[in-house]
Amino acid sequence: MAAFGKNILPEMVIASFENGQWNEPVFAPSDRLELHPGAHVLHYSSTCFEGLKAFRHKDGSVFIFRPDANVKRMAQSSRLLRLPEVNEDQLFKMITDLVARFADDVPLPPGSMYIRPVHIGSEAAIGAAASPSASSLLYVLVSPVGDYFSGDSATLRILLKEDGMRSAPHMGMVKSGGNYASALGPILDAKAQYQADQILFCPDGHVQETGAANFIFIQGNELLTKSLDTSILHGVTRDSILTLAKDCGLQVVEKDLTVDELLERSARPDAEAALSGTAAALAPVGTFIHNDKEYTIGSGQTGEKTRQLRQRLCAIQSGEVEDKHHWLKKVN
Ligand SMILES: *Cc1c(COP(=O)(O)O)cnc(C)c1O
Repeated sequence: MAAFGKNILPEMVIASFENGQWNEPVFAPSDRLELHPGAHVLHYSSTCFEGLKAFRHKDGSVFIFRPDANVKRMAQSSRLLRLPEVNEDQLFKMITDLVARFADDVPLPPGSMYIRPVHIGSEAAIGAAASPSASSLLYVLVSPVGDYFSGDSATLRILLKEDGMRSAPHMGMVKSGGNYASALGPILDAKAQYQADQILFCPDGHVQETGAANFIFIQGNELLTKSLDTSILHGVTRDSILTLAKDCGLQVVEKDLTVDELLERSARPDAEAALSGTAAALAPVGTFIHNDKEYTIGSGQTGEKTRQLRQRLCAIQSGEVEDKHHWLKKVN
């Protein structure tokens, strides 16, 4: 199987916003896009995206995991970026129509179909630095993906970085390429300098999240994670894991988490840490790196509760256990 997200299927679904309204979405080849070189997005980063997955069940039917949440978040990101207002019903239908069209290409678990909606400002207006794009393009790509953890059970090494931040504080909840561009330099530096897999951004000692995933800490019967504000992405996986943790009887605490508390508690034998996001579901963290020192989290191996929560989520997605929170939407 190709690297995650590189095998993009040959058709997308695309809708344009012009003259104050959305045109009917159409299927089109997914290997090109007609765009004026002066398009707003190419100069002023008027762009946001989503990432969600479709799963094939044993009987062949295909389900999308919590698409309503992603559609809502895309509408919110678009609003915060002053892109044209997304028609949520239209986007929902674009996603389900495209997945239905490629239903035969949705792999069996642990594989899935990764779905990538994108919204970009398309108006050719290079003097429009301080005005929004009057027109836009909204399209959806799909890409069959394999198990993110194929054969690799190693835990992640995470650099705790107290200077700088991932994104501007009011932009963290916007799923926008601009935030990724802003975090890329520090992440590559952390890889080169510390062999870190990711950075956990902790401006002024307050834990936020990594470049593309939310952070979750477990110790004893408590699951701790930062409460939602504008500085972090409101992850659908985060929300799902917190719900499942409550189902399992864990005490879920959403609060401000400091680096001091994190390092102090990570030394306990039952400490666990993980990153949550659609691509990897729940990825275990084994080591923190802070001020040139390394800290092993608990045993340094995948935590038992992390493993359980991940398994529960994956079992719901693949249809092995009952979907009692009604997260799956059938497409065919
Ligand atoms: C997409 C993303 C996440 C994870 O969100 P999910 O909805 O769980 O996939 C977390 N942090 C950032 C910065 C993201 O872009």
